[in-house]
Amino acid sequence: LVSREHQSEDTIIRVKGTEIGGSRHTLIAGPCSIESKEQLETVAAALKKAGVTILRGGAFKPRTSPYNFQGLGEDGLKMMKEVADKTGMVTISEVMTPGQIETAARYIDIFQIGARNMQNFDLLRAVGQTQKPVLLKRGLSATIEEFKFAAEYILDRGNDQVMLMERGIRTFEKATRNTLDISAVPILKQETHLPVLVDVTHSTGRKDIMLPCAKAGLAAGADGVMIEMHPNPSKALSDSKQQLNMEEFQAFWKGLCDSGLFR
Ligand code: PEP
Ligand code: MN
Repeated sequence: LVSREHQSEDTIIRVKGTEIGGSRHTLIAGPCSIESKEQLETVAAALKKAGVTILRGGAFKPRTSPYNFQGLGEDGLKMMKEVADKTGMVTISEVMTPGQIETAARYIDIFQIGARNMQNFDLLRAVGQTQKPVLLKRGLSATIEEFKFAAEYILDRGNDQVMLMERGIRTFEKATRNTLDISAVPILKQETHLPVLVDVTHSTGRKDIMLPCAKAGLAAGADGVMIEMHPNPSKALSDSKQQLNMEEFQAFWKGLCDSGLFR
């Protein structure tokens, strides 16, 4: 169902007047974790000013250590909805279990399936039974074929509003947090009809190369880019090293617009 043979034309996802996968590129931005209403409002205001319409933020967080901040859960999703209601922005947040879907659906517009759950088949089937778009991230060590089959699980249950996100894979390389697999972009674009985006935050883990990596993704045919940003990254409760502050976001956004690659 995800293949170009099955459907030759590109899938375009439409939410609240925003299109993902059409003729325009998409920027998805926001904090790693939702931490407070003020934090979300600050980020949303900067995005609105830049003309960015999609706000991300985690409430159910897949943390490597059980002792790290696990997210605000439903309270965080409520903050997201309040900000969305005020600004008209489209919101994305991760669900980690089928049991979280019904709750999350009340507050957000797009479900995110994180890298660690790419092959959580019950979760894939469960979002496949909803009517909301799904942002599916590539697994930490997933092959492109496994990634496509994960998406297939969602479409197989009747939900064809799926976008794919390359977020870096595990290799021997230590200079970056993960290795952004640029080659996955044209391969996924050729072999599937789904929108393909690149996450330059979790792949690189390095602010100094996020802009060139975003450009590379777009040059390779990606439909959009995701970055994380935070009003005060050094105080962030997760991913404090790689979230852009407000000035860094402005510079990133200007660089992307000036590159001529972002339509
Ligand atoms: C995220 O985008 O919030 C996230 C946890 O990323 P990943 O699942 O790619 O590690
Ligand atoms: Mn993060």
